[in-house]
Amino acid sequence: MTQLATASTAADAASQIYRDAALGWLEEFGRAAEQKDVADIVRLFAADPWWRDMYALTWDLTGMHGADDIAEVLTTALPATGLRDIALDETRPVTFENDTYIEAVYTFTTDIATGRGVVRLVEEDGDWRAWVLSTVLTGLKNFPFKQVTTEDVSHPEFNYAAVPGTRKTAEEIKEERRAFRDSDPSVLIVGAGHSGMFLAAYLETLGVPTLLVDTYARAGDNWRLRYNGLLLHDMKWAVQFPYMPFPPAWPIFLSKDLLADWLESYVEHMRLNLWTSTVVNRADYDAESGRWTVELNRDGEARTLNSNHLVISTGLNGLPKTPEIEGMSEFKGVVAHSSAYEGGAIAKGKRVVVVGAGSSGHDIAQDAYENEASAITMVQRSATYLISQRYGVPMQFGKYYSHDHLPIEDADLLASVNPTALARKLGPGITKKIAETDRELLEGLDRAGFRTTFGPEDAGLTPIASTGGSYYIDKGASRLIIDGKIRMQSGEIARFTPTGVVYSDGTEEEADIVVLCTGYTNVRESVRPILGDEVTDQLATVWNIDDRGEVRTSMRHSGHEKLWFVANGLRIARILGKPLAVMIKAIDEGLIDPKISVEKKAPEPK
Ligand SMILES: Cc1cc2nc3c(=O)[nH]c(=O)nc-3n(C[C@H](O)[C@H](O)[C@H](O)COP(=O)(O)OP(=O)(O)OC[C@H]3O[C@@H](n4cnc5c(N)ncnc54)[C@H](O)[C@@H]3O)c2cc1C
Repeated sequence: MTQLATASTAADAASQIYRDAALGWLEEFGRAAEQKDVADIVRLFAADPWWRDMYALTWDLTGMHGADDIAEVLTTALPATGLRDIALDETRPVTFENDTYIEAVYTFTTDIATGRGVVRLVEEDGDWRAWVLSTVLTGLKNFPFKQVTTEDVSHPEFNYAAVPGTRKTAEEIKEERRAFRDSDPSVLIVGAGHSGMFLAAYLETLGVPTLLVDTYARAGDNWRLRYNGLLLHDMKWAVQFPYMPFPPAWPIFLSKDLLADWLESYVEHMRLNLWTSTVVNRADYDAESGRWTVELNRDGEARTLNSNHLVISTGLNGLPKTPEIEGMSEFKGVVAHSSAYEGGAIAKGKRVVVVGAGSSGHDIAQDAYENEASAITMVQRSATYLISQRYGVPMQFGKYYSHDHLPIEDADLLASVNPTALARKLGPGITKKIAETDRELLEGLDRAGFRTTFGPEDAGLTPIASTGGSYYIDKGASRLIIDGKIRMQSGEIARFTPTGVVYSDGTEEEADIVVLCTGYTNVRESVRPILGDEVTDQLATVWNIDDRGEVRTSMRHSGHEKLWFVANGLRIARILGKPLAVMIKAIDEGLIDPKISVEKKAPEPK
């Protein structure tokens, strides 16, 4: 036997061992689950176990840690939902990852739903035990996502009988549906960024009539009208749209215009119902009928619609936060919050001060440089987490999302196994590796007076993505800081003079334009004018983490039985939008009680 053949036989034998171990574990898990025996289930777990339930058993995003925690959640959830038909998913190989754990994908059902999950097994006391497990809701048994097969050729849609005067073009059918003249949408989504659009696409595929409304005149304007030079931070494989992947030749980092046009074509190709140039004036909920009455103005025409659900998808930010600074009203130059600053040629020949050293501060400072500002200062109050787009981003996300990635549903399943609390715990390892790769950049910034941090708990982007914090993914501005083209100033503006600013350390500087990249209020506050105080006060604030370590409220329960906030990056909007759509369908079909959203409202962070 050749050496090569011996090696491949040994590899085959090892794969068989891992596969047998996974099959054995899943069989025992299946037996215990079927009997709803919580103690038996917990016995199959390792000493320090984690479980992430994504809506399958808890109808919520629930991170669990430790045997007691798992037992507590299962004791309530298991009798209510059931868990059975556990089987190895033969479409995915069982693998041995990082020389540490066996990873297997499996499928299951509950009383009313289907699901898929991942188990990671470690060897403990001679047995394979679960270190991390996920249970992900993928659909409802009786109301599946529509998928056309060859058998559908007998569907009435393909009725060729000719009846004079009845043929409508596809365009006419689309516009009729979109107008909602004789019917109401079940779900009305306010805000047609990707978060709203992805949810609408999933809902429509489940057969739930959905209407998106947006104040902008054209789908994609939320990106199109931002400053030139805006590129996405994530690689394109991570941010692809449900059902509509990007062309293979597209660049790795999408420009705002590519994304804007793709959003516009998504509306058309997915046949989404979108009203642009539409303002929501008022939304009132009638608890007795369980329906919303929504008053809108569609491009000058007043319309009133009734819907079962109202979804707020107006972005991650609430209202711009503009600090009150002494002397600001006497300043003779331009002072603007970043949300109102257009950038571009206005900066030419001007002295620009950018307050804030996060993403928008960097982008605006770089934009000023590219537009030939005569001097640029960036004011940094606290340290910023910084990674390079070129090296750091592929290290952070490249494992599951790259040019030779798995089918997107598999990549999403594998990439979201870890409860956020575990991802935070593992964060320092990868953060340190990224920092080593970015060492030259970080040292240069340090020399230029730019302060960096590894983020909360030294865990880099993971906690920042859930609890917020200042970060920048370098797309060129760091080089400008290192080369002194953007001057760094520590502290904050203490006061304005008529012609400039005085910083907290006493330094004085002349300025023509001051841009305040000082953040936003919580998104909840932006809906108060539409919903009124009574409903708004019932709602949880959006984002931050709950007491089990998961991101609060967005794509989850809001505290109101028929109101949802969805505001996420593209990847998470794609991953969580799907089970959320299934949950909304389950509520509409009477399979689960809408009160669940009131009960499961995450408590406010302390
Ligand atoms: C420089 C930069 C780089 C980024 N890179 C990435 C990346 O790599 N990956 C990623 O996932 N995300 C990225 N983002 C996206 C960002 O982080 C958010 O995730 C994203 O904008 C949120 O999308 P959304 O659909 O929730 O909201 P938005 O895109 O903000 O869309 C909200 C929509 O709601 C509409 N709206 C607001 N108020 C109302 C109202 N009252 N009535 C009707 N309509 C309303 C707006 O017109 C808008 O169209 C980047 C952002 C920036 C600025």
